[in-house]
Amino acid sequence: MRFSFLSGSNASKTSPMTASITLNQIRTLKVALPVPLLGLFDYLPSGEQDLVSEQWLGCRVEVPFGTRRLIGWVCEIGHAEMDNLALKAIIRRIDAVPIISDELLASLRWTAKYYQAPLGEVLSTAMPSLLREGQGLPDVCQYAWQLTEAGHTQYTSLRKNSRALQLAERLVQHAIDETWLEQHLPQWRSIMKTLHTKLYVERVVVKQNTAHKILENGPSLNTQQQQCMADILSTEGYSVHLLEGVTGSGKTEIYIQAIAHCLAQNKQALILVPEIGLTPQTLARFEARLPVPVHVLHSNLSDGARARAWAAMASGIGRVMIGTRSAVFASLPEAGLIIIDEEHDSSYKQQDGFHYHARDLAIVRAKNLDIPIILGSATPSLESLHNAEQNRYHFLHLPSRAGLAKPPTVRLTDVRKIKLHHGLSQDMLDGIKHCLEKGEQALVFKNRRGYAPALLCHDCGFTAMCTRCDSPLTVHAGQKRLICHHCGYQKPKPLACPDCGSLALQAQGFGTERLEEALSEFFPDYPCIRVDRETTRKRDGLEQQLKLLGQNPGILVGTQILAKGHDLPLLSFVGVVGVDEGLYSADFRAPEKLAQLLIQVSGRAGRSTHAGTVLIQTHHPEHPLLLELLRGGYRQFAQTALAERQLAELPPYAYMALIRCESVHSESAQAFLHDASTVLLAHIKQQGFSLHSSGAIPAAMPKRAGKSRWQLALTANSRQELQRLLALSLQELYQLKSARKARWSIDVDPSDLS
Ligand code: ADP
Ligand code: ZN
Ligand code: ZN
Repeated sequence: MRFSFLSGSNASKTSPMTASITLNQIRTLKVALPVPLLGLFDYLPSGEQDLVSEQWLGCRVEVPFGTRRLIGWVCEIGHAEMDNLALKAIIRRIDAVPIISDELLASLRWTAKYYQAPLGEVLSTAMPSLLREGQGLPDVCQYAWQLTEAGHTQYTSLRKNSRALQLAERLVQHAIDETWLEQHLPQWRSIMKTLHTKLYVERVVVKQNTAHKILENGPSLNTQQQQCMADILSTEGYSVHLLEGVTGSGKTEIYIQAIAHCLAQNKQALILVPEIGLTPQTLARFEARLPVPVHVLHSNLSDGARARAWAAMASGIGRVMIGTRSAVFASLPEAGLIIIDEEHDSSYKQQDGFHYHARDLAIVRAKNLDIPIILGSATPSLESLHNAEQNRYHFLHLPSRAGLAKPPTVRLTDVRKIKLHHGLSQDMLDGIKHCLEKGEQALVFKNRRGYAPALLCHDCGFTAMCTRCDSPLTVHAGQKRLICHHCGYQKPKPLACPDCGSLALQAQGFGTERLEEALSEFFPDYPCIRVDRETTRKRDGLEQQLKLLGQNPGILVGTQILAKGHDLPLLSFVGVVGVDEGLYSADFRAPEKLAQLLIQVSGRAGRSTHAGTVLIQTHHPEHPLLLELLRGGYRQFAQTALAERQLAELPPYAYMALIRCESVHSESAQAFLHDASTVLLAHIKQQGFSLHSSGAIPAAMPKRAGKSRWQLALTANSRQELQRLLALSLQELYQLKSARKARWSIDVDPSDLS
């Protein structure tokens, strides 16, 4: 079925697929365009001979729009009066056959409707940029390189130690496909050229499903894993499985075997991982175990690579894709399984443009595709736990670690009234020392990058603030620079206080850079490696940093980048510093996020046979969140947190939407939300909805990057009412005069209220 889009002046009003027309009417193409306007736009085909038929649906067209030319998508067939002179013809049809499937188009329509975004905007977010710009679908045949007969007999004559020889030696074993080469040997083309000019190698098309690979064997599943697999495989068609398993319990093993099963059924599989979870290590693990090339899709790829990966899946040649948030828009003509790893991760929620949640969208797609979906996490989101409790999801558990690893011991250390050494307690330093002396590795976790979170004048109390945001500047680069973490503004650190001229400017608090400095001083005989956004800018930056440590005793100090992925077998001590800032936050999701982070970081300790210790340093040792986590683990915390949410009528027991607005002029932003509020309240009243509107209120950070930020929160007990209200009001909001003077957006199911 197809959903009819929001009604409005230029939007389609009838069900278009079967629109019957009268004699003085003509059929039109209804095109979704990447413009911030609601509805579809009517065009005529370009040539006399081009009849409008359903074969146009899902094809791209280039059209005149005002003085511009735009690329759009034919989403419906409509009709217009024959004498409608305002109708323009398209400039050209780009695709002879549709490049998106009925299911993807239907899912995107659902998305547009649910997130209150124009379909054209949704389509242009969903598609790789080259396709959005009108380029043809790239060649997606898989190619591999193999040695020719001449190559086999003569390759040994290549120069010793040359890269060509090394590559040829690999090719002796088996042919290598280009996907693999792209990922593991970025400079492969020039090396291959050397071999090719000597006629040592040839390029061959890889047949579907038969990559040239030697597969690694995985462990045989333990009883708990077998139980989970049996449950997953026993369901047919659409079903959601929430796989809750502590870090190291073998969830990834289940993913791999479920995918292998799916491939054996001749179906495609899609795996979503969080932004920082898609490491070369993760990819290598899937690749080593699956019989087909694994396609990747993430934001660090070139436009060409993104388009190729997308097209590979869309053509059916690609069988497995692993990607970050936007991979949820992969076209899957032969879909068999979707997996969302770390389903609670906040990177699945898009924070600008239209605010979709990739996990929620993936569930909708699984439903439309009628296939199973697995949501995996050690710390499931409260939303998913709630759904599992309501029996909407199958709840699967892996309570203990697979293999030999044991769970870590977790301890709090009360630092009230205790002298700290550069922000670290003696207890913490002893823990690290003990670990290093055993020849193992320690991790110090602090979720603040930079040297210190603020610069303070000891004489007058002045704090260096960002001029464009309501936020203090962070001290960076060995105290040489001040940087704003919200807008990127930076300047050299002043020598004297700009207010009183005093030289007593002090870095306040601790960031990873400062802890690195302190720990290097405390433990001069051991390497101390910092892992945060600065030291890991490149995609394999984390890998490079971790390599520095290798198998030697040493210290890792870093932010939440360290919380995920990566087996660190020698890591046996985790110290957590600075949880206190997270314990008292205004955001109702803060406790959930903190609990998840603490559990994830703790999970880093003792992943192999080294028993792990976790030490949490706090000024609030009696805080219920910490005690609950310590006593009953994440599940007990989650139970209490859910009960609190229910009492306070907060998600998942209520439904929220946020209308955000920002402008350089505070009044403009406020004015729009006031007008919006009037529109919304009128509909609430008229429809008798039991919905609560906060009215226009300043955002938690009222100024960011020079813009004043306001918001309006809608809370409802019924998702349907909230959806109906937004749908009823949307057109009017777009048409408000005040809407032109400010940037506004609707965030349905907001995950971040700041
Ligand atoms: P998770 O994804 O839950 O963190 P993994 O699947 O990565 O867990 O498993 C953790 C470690 O345990 C990996 O090194 C994996 O190879 C190993 N492992 C998983 N399942 C088994 C098993 N059934 N027997 C032995 N080792 C296993
Ligand atoms: Zn001062
Ligand atoms: Zn700023």
